[in-house]
Amino acid sequence: MHDLRSEERAKLVEELKSLGISNTKLLKAFLKVRRELFVGKDFLRFAYDNNALPINSNQTISQPFTVAYMTQLLDVKDNDKVLEIGTGSGYQAAILCEMGADVYSVERLEDLHQTAKERLNNLGYKVKLKCADGSRGWREYAPYNKIIVTAGSPKIPKSLLEQLSDNGKLVIPVGDEKGQVMYEVIKKMTDEGEPKYLYKTFDDFRFVPLIGEEAWDDK
Ligand code: SAM
Repeated sequence: MHDLRSEERAKLVEELKSLGISNTKLLKAFLKVRRELFVGKDFLRFAYDNNALPINSNQTISQPFTVAYMTQLLDVKDNDKVLEIGTGSGYQAAILCEMGADVYSVERLEDLHQTAKERLNNLGYKVKLKCADGSRGWREYAPYNKIIVTAGSPKIPKSLLEQLSDNGKLVIPVGDEKGQVMYEVIKKMTDEGEPKYLYKTFDDFRFVPLIGEEAWDDK
């Protein structure tokens, strides 16, 4: 099929570069993944604006800059085993697949989980998907080299720290309902076999809430 929107994607990639995104593999993935296939039909014309857009169930597909920023922090290497919490539209998962990661993704809302499953499957992305409370991670396949949380959490869920491998990295927005700070946490196992966590904070963002046992209550 002729790709009518490749110019818009290239323009978006130039914008991301001007905003400090420099990871070549990541920019290539952005050139490849057709964001218009991940947004609702009412928002097709806005697919390449650098904005978050509504998806079903009052949720959002994150702003392209936010996806790029978090993915750049995550520093994805070929064959990294990556756990994403908050599948949403499946766009972030597709970007991770294009970067050569082995992707696991958890979504708490059944309709979003089903839609993303069909969409990613039709596009040929081999993502392992589960509908569950991702604040508890996905223990069955742990440990993961990288974990990315695409919803705002009041704290860093203990289960996610536990499910990181040695030298693994977690990227998660932490804060209140009004705004969150981006955290990077790296796990290092000591010679005594104890985990040590190194924390770093980055810019401010605003995400929909991470709702679950180790995050916000479902009000
Ligand atoms: N990564 C998504 C994408 O590429 O479209 C955007 C994610 S959206 C900003 C956040 C998602 O996190 C929503 O779909 C929401 O339902 C989901 N979510 C919130 N709490 C969750 C939880 N405890 N476990 C799994 N998913 C959760």
